Amino acid sequence: MRLIFIGPPGSGKGTQAKLLSQHSNLVHFATGDILREAMRLETPEGKLAAPYIINGQLVPDNLVNDIVVSRFRAPNRPANFVMDGYPRTIGQAIAFDSLLHELGLALDGVIFLKVADQEIIKRLSSRWNCPNTQCKASYNTETKPPRNPRHCDDCGSVLQQRDDDREETVARRLRIFHEVYDDLVNYYRGKGQLIEVPGLGSVEGIQDKIQRALAARNIK
Ligand code: AMP
Repeated sequence: MRLIFIGPPGSGKGTQAKLLSQHSNLVHFATGDILREAMRLETPEGKLAAPYIINGQLVPDNLVNDIVVSRFRAPNRPANFVMDGYPRTIGQAIAFDSLLHELGLALDGVIFLKVADQEIIKRLSSRWNCPNTQCKASYNTETKPPRNPRHCDDCGSVLQQRDDDREETVARRLRIFHEVYDDLVNYYRGKGQLIEVPGLGSVEGIQDKIQRALAARNIK
């Protein structure tokens, strides 16, 4: 199974893509995670991407495309995968189509998780993470609060908010998302690849909807 997940920041696409990758044994390919790790390790790519990520802007297409191309051209490239957060623009979608074509890999579908803006702002500004790289637990003050306010349940570290989860940055990330996502959604809809799933309800309920939508299209 080869899929792309599209959804506004905070739509739960990361959680859902991870669950689906475990259920169907797929490589979970998250460009946000790859870029944040590059930033943490201060690699040349990480240093280039950092100012964009911190300001809630999209990293330039050529930088993200290069990261994806180098992983997919490597000998241990993903054969079955779920792309999480890539492609994010038409330029990236076209580059990814031609990469898959070059490698002889067909895409099975593009899942679009739909969530309203107000709900997104509420969800993201409530998100807190454990900075301990061995732990990485995540919390949500609305839906999954830590037992001790501001401290990780698992390892006791002081919780942090991602710079790009602060309320003013969230609003900017959403605006940017809207500027580009209509085109992207229309691009995949035009190719008959779009699978729309409402992103509201419990994590398990949404996962169930995704798996049903895939089964209905005979995507295995
Ligand atoms: P995410 O974890 O997917 O929300 O991504 C976090 C940040 O990484 C985004 O706000 C962007 O700055 C950057 N990013 C991740 N994936 C991409 C992409 N495909 N294109 C451009 N920027 C990206």
